[in-house]
Amino acid sequence: MTKRVFSFGGGDAEGSAAQAALLGGKGANLAEMCRLGLNVPPGFTLTTDVGLEYRRLNGYPPCLETEVAVHLARLEALTGLAFGDAGRPLLLSVRSGARVSMPGMMDTVLNLGLNDETVRGLARLSGDERFAWDSYRRFIQMYADIVLGLGHHHFEDILVALKGPGADGTLTAEDCRRLSGDYLALVEAETGQPFPQDPRRQLWGAIGAVFASWDNARAVTYRRLNAIPDTLGTAVTVQAMVFGNRDGCSATGVAFTRNPSTGAREVFGEYLPNAQGEDVVAGLRTPLFLTEAGRRTAMSEAPSMEEAMPGPYQELMQALQLLERHYRDMQEVEFTVQQGKLWVLQTRTAKRGINAALKIAVAMADDGWISRDEAILRVDPMGLDQLLHDYLDPDAPRDVVTRGLPASPGAASGRIVFTSDEAEERAARGQNVILVRVETSPEDVHGMHAARGILTSRGGMTSHAAVVARGMGRACVCGAAAMRIDMEARTLTCMDRVFKDGDTLTIDGSTGEVMAGFVPALAPELTGDFATLMGWADSRRRLGVRANAETPEDVETALRFGAEGIGLCRTEHMFFDAERIIAVREMILAETPAGRRAALDKIAPMQKGDFVRIFEIMKGRPVTIRLLDPPLHEFLPDDEADLAALARELGVEPRQMLRRARELREINPILGHRGCRLGISYPEIYEMQARAIFEAALEVKLATGDTVVPEIMVPLVSSRSELDVLKARIDAMAAEIGARGHDIPYLVGTMIELPRAALTAASIAEVAEFFSFGTNDLTQSTYGISRDDSAGFMADYLRQGVYGKDPFMSLDQEGVGALVRMGVEGGRAARPGIKLGISGEHGGDPASIRFFEQLKLDHVSCSPYRVPIARLAAARAALGG
Ligand code: PEP
Ligand code: MG
Repeated sequence: MTKRVFSFGGGDAEGSAAQAALLGGKGANLAEMCRLGLNVPPGFTLTTDVGLEYRRLNGYPPCLETEVAVHLARLEALTGLAFGDAGRPLLLSVRSGARVSMPGMMDTVLNLGLNDETVRGLARLSGDERFAWDSYRRFIQMYADIVLGLGHHHFEDILVALKGPGADGTLTAEDCRRLSGDYLALVEAETGQPFPQDPRRQLWGAIGAVFASWDNARAVTYRRLNAIPDTLGTAVTVQAMVFGNRDGCSATGVAFTRNPSTGAREVFGEYLPNAQGEDVVAGLRTPLFLTEAGRRTAMSEAPSMEEAMPGPYQELMQALQLLERHYRDMQEVEFTVQQGKLWVLQTRTAKRGINAALKIAVAMADDGWISRDEAILRVDPMGLDQLLHDYLDPDAPRDVVTRGLPASPGAASGRIVFTSDEAEERAARGQNVILVRVETSPEDVHGMHAARGILTSRGGMTSHAAVVARGMGRACVCGAAAMRIDMEARTLTCMDRVFKDGDTLTIDGSTGEVMAGFVPALAPELTGDFATLMGWADSRRRLGVRANAETPEDVETALRFGAEGIGLCRTEHMFFDAERIIAVREMILAETPAGRRAALDKIAPMQKGDFVRIFEIMKGRPVTIRLLDPPLHEFLPDDEADLAALARELGVEPRQMLRRARELREINPILGHRGCRLGISYPEIYEMQARAIFEAALEVKLATGDTVVPEIMVPLVSSRSELDVLKARIDAMAAEIGARGHDIPYLVGTMIELPRAALTAASIAEVAEFFSFGTNDLTQSTYGISRDDSAGFMADYLRQGVYGKDPFMSLDQEGVGALVRMGVEGGRAARPGIKLGISGEHGGDPASIRFFEQLKLDHVSCSPYRVPIARLAAARAALGG
């Protein structure tokens, strides 16, 4: 018989940390902590397999009840209490726990087992009426919410009617008793059924609801955003309750073994005296500091746990040390103190900002806890993005309007919005937004994802907003208690300053400052732990990393970020320059080759100058230059009035201008008369470009002595015959300039960006000396969808997950990747050792990079800001990560 339930507690456990897939992260770590000898409330875990069975059967598998009964009896024996017993009631928590931590996304029920009788038993046993009735009213509310689907607001209305807002802490025993009665009546009125009094019914109701919470909307969204498979399912852990709300010597809290924002080797955490866990997470009360150091830095008056509860505090410090050393990683630990005794309720690998991730990975490798390879595998390449982007200029004036907690590092400016739906909508329209909420809840995950930054008025460093923002790498300032949010009026008031929906604010998630208006930002310094880890990554990767760049600034940035070459220099960008566009348009309007040549002669020196600058900066590193690609109509204005104005400027008949524009317009700009086809019809264009390249290479070589190896790339080839024609012309130009004689060992290659090019790669490779996969156009032409999606229809379509993964974001075997593989195999068959690169957006995508490593491409090329991400991703791919 398969074992469906695993017990832990009493110094022993049936499971261990190795069984996270079966027991969920929480269940597995509870078992592990018992084995380590930590003080863990005893309990048992129903496996993820049971969860999946429950989902499939829409009910419990047979025999489960018997198995649970055995474990429940063991729990009773261990605690000396009895479930449902009016004299010595055992109370339980029922907790979710997936293999991968999904903080706050699924449900938990606390204080289960209370009813009209056991609540009295609890009061007698504890000698504390208030505690017993407070626990009961919390339980009714939580159970009704999670199991019976009655929203919190029903209960909050009753609470507010009784005591006014924010009165949680001032409730008397009598208040709690009255609330419990009112809550029970409410449940019966709303559901037509009395609140279940039978603890066993409560238990099975809660287990089912927690299993089902795997499929609630926010969990589904979280999994989609974090690429967690739906098929994993959650486990359920049933555990004896311990009470942080027991009395003044009780507390609940969360501790990180290191500082989760900076990674510094100092315990960081928060606690709330006389409270239960959900009070902290929900941000209902702002928690106090764990350590004296933390309290002093924040200039808080309220006593730290270190001061208020020295005994349990010391025990906690020991537990944290043990756990970090055991797991060899920073842990986030939930704990409860009940009447002076410490209980550890959970440990997991802590989410952390990128600075912390780098610092911890490097420190642990330096300390010999982990290998350098493991350090590389511990840092998410996409996380680097935050470091590579700008931070606020320290010298820029800041109009600070309020301050909150520095919950997630990074700076963000944007227009303020007050709901997550709006954040998503406006971000989809290309606006930078700051999401402003009193506090966030798991329902806000999509808005937080869409926003540049998140600002809340309530909650601490472990509130939902803070934890999720850090995980997502969004800047976040939380608990800015001095600001007032009026959701009705859609305003944010800081002292006497009022900000309306759409006004611009800047937040600094590293300092907690909130500023009016836009504050300029600066580029980061790429030193310290970042440089160390990148050095380790470079020594491990096999793939080369180049950049897509054409302006001298971008080329310099790419070099600063560690690019080893230019993988794609798109020459059309150079044609849009204000000085040149006139000549480009003259060229377009010319009716004869001689006319075109005359116009191109004006551009030629500038084009040569472009290449000279790039070759000088690159100092002999490889540079792939792509000849002109887009259809010519892209160089003409769109609308008729502008065309007429242009005609006047160029001294041609407006009618002639309109006719030419109409002739050139491609119905579908990703197809048609562009790329190599243009080069074949108008030989003058590529002739000018090839000449500029060779002359520039020669000039730089003579001036600097650097051997420049230009890689001349012909775009949009679909057949070998196209490349035959163009390569012959390029070679002729090289001969004319004397490139070979001057030892300019140029290459001629092509982009593989049409399905037919991938299909005929072997024959193209007989001519092409290198390939660069243009996976942007290859994706468009394979799927028949365009990336230029001004109405957002395609983006919506892709978001619905119609193709599973968005093919523009990530590339693998099954989609466009199959064509890339075909191109690779064809190319190598015809020309062993052919140089293979990729320069579509996928070149900077870590998941796609894993695929390119499998194909053993020579290099990836991506935008300059993606270069460090690609370097790290390439190292991880080489390490099999
Ligand atoms: C491509 O098509 O993938 C490519 C790199 O070229 P562009 O994006 O300029 O079309
Ligand atoms: Mg292209």
